[in-house]
Amino acid sequence: MRFDVFDSPVQFLEQEGISADHDWLRQYQLWFQNEGQAISDAVDRAGTPWLRMFDRWGTRVDEILYPPEYWRMLRQGYRSGVLWRVVEQNSLIPAYLLLYVTGFHDPGLACPYTVSLSTLSPLSKYGDPERKAQFLPRMLERDDNVWQGATWMTEIKGGSDLGAAVETVAQPDGNQWRLTGDKYFASNAGAELAVVAARPEGAPQNVRGLSLFLVPRRRGDGQLNYCIRRLKDKIATRSVPTGEVELRQSEAWLLGRAEYGIYLILEALNLSRVANSVGAVALAQRAITDAYSFATQRTAFGKPIVQHPLLHRQFEHRCQQLRAASRLAWEAVYLLDEVWQEKPPYSDRYHLFRLVAHLAKYWTAEFAVETAKWAMEVYGGVGTLYEYRVERWLREAMILAIWEGTSHRQMLDGLEVIERKNGHRLLLQHLRGNASDSALRAMEARVDRQLGLDEIEREGTLEDLFDDLASFTANALLNRQG
Ligand SMILES: Cc1cc2nc3c(=O)[nH]c(=O)nc-3n(C[C@H](O)[C@H](O)[C@H](O)COP(=O)(O)OP(=O)(O)OC[C@H]3O[C@@H](n4cnc5c(N)ncnc54)[C@H](O)[C@@H]3O)c2cc1C
Repeated sequence: MRFDVFDSPVQFLEQEGISADHDWLRQYQLWFQNEGQAISDAVDRAGTPWLRMFDRWGTRVDEILYPPEYWRMLRQGYRSGVLWRVVEQNSLIPAYLLLYVTGFHDPGLACPYTVSLSTLSPLSKYGDPERKAQFLPRMLERDDNVWQGATWMTEIKGGSDLGAAVETVAQPDGNQWRLTGDKYFASNAGAELAVVAARPEGAPQNVRGLSLFLVPRRRGDGQLNYCIRRLKDKIATRSVPTGEVELRQSEAWLLGRAEYGIYLILEALNLSRVANSVGAVALAQRAITDAYSFATQRTAFGKPIVQHPLLHRQFEHRCQQLRAASRLAWEAVYLLDEVWQEKPPYSDRYHLFRLVAHLAKYWTAEFAVETAKWAMEVYGGVGTLYEYRVERWLREAMILAIWEGTSHRQMLDGLEVIERKNGHRLLLQHLRGNASDSALRAMEARVDRQLGLDEIEREGTLEDLFDDLASFTANALLNRQG
């Protein structure tokens, strides 16, 4: 196994046949190597940005304060094309390539780019012509004037059961709406434009009663349209300001049809779950490469620790798993790139994508956590010290398994696609030629047995099946391209 490509995300992507030789991607990586990584480390260590709520005259301003280097780092990704290349090439692939390189250096920084993408997409798909003319050009700027997006769904009562927990109310107001409520986890707080889940007055108190709205940072008259109550001090993703946002009669525009809101919310989540998968693989690659660098230099019992058979075998195993995880994550990207413009009712291809995306989000996030923990162990005691960065990968990985829907959510949503849309048959059909017929039949029979269990057993024993299905898919994909 060639370990030397593992210290370069771009080289790894090229070796795996995922990316061609893109000069712009190499330049982006180079920028991180020369400058960005040091900025990222400083932001992580110095802590989360802070909030200035009032100016000196007592006017509410809700400014988020960072050192100027932070803005330079943040804007690098926008300038490199994490948004504008998507529209120019009518493809998500360039965005996910940039997210991979970002995730290798700063997993948290991938968040503003992802939520901006998850704002751009519904705006361009469902925005009315006036709103598109007003906002799209701002998000596609190629310089420092670019507008950022944000996706705010979660409220204090919880993120998993949005149908029950969202209390933000939407009232019609001419051709606009007014939103009132509090968002409890609002990443990229301060963004110029957010997509927000709210319940139109009188809509059902369940997930079908939710709609998706576009909420700009400023009202038509220039006043603040939402307030930031506070920023959260988090264990990781410290390079993104996650706040609590207060909406008070905030101006908003409905996206799509009100009763289709849950589909729009899930479409936005598709983009971020896939981004999470790509970021998790990038993080795992980073943890492995850092561990490898340490293990080639640390000696014990007369030789570098990497040369001891037990550790050497572990490295080989991790790298093989990394390649499989990468295939699964990128399969989700390719499928998403085919279906992201679809609107309900969706095709079978879309349902296949959804199952792959749930498998990828679940499996890659868990893999990232395990790999980051293992990398810390390879470092031994110094792995626990803040000075040497490897502890950061474990902190960052913990978030990947929680946001964009926890691992439980991925399993349960995956089960739903299997039950309602025959997702497993679509998947196994998709994998024909990459696994033996007998292995495909055995996996199909296994899923069918699960579906035959009573409800409590079916859910209670789901993790083993989901884990096996994800691993089976990832390894089959490795056969395809390897
Ligand atoms: C750093 C960070 C930034 C975030 N940024 C944003 C953002 O910008 N926008 C946004 O909308 N949200 C954001 N979130 C919120 C995130 O999406 C939620 O944390 C996540 O969806 C889980 O919701 P919760 O934390 O309320 O946990 P809960 O929903 O309360 O769940 C608690 C636990 O119960 C489990 N659980 C729930 N239901 C079931 C079930 N049926 N079966 C088994 N287990 C179950 C969950 O998996 C979890 O383990 C952010 C979170 C973090 C940590």
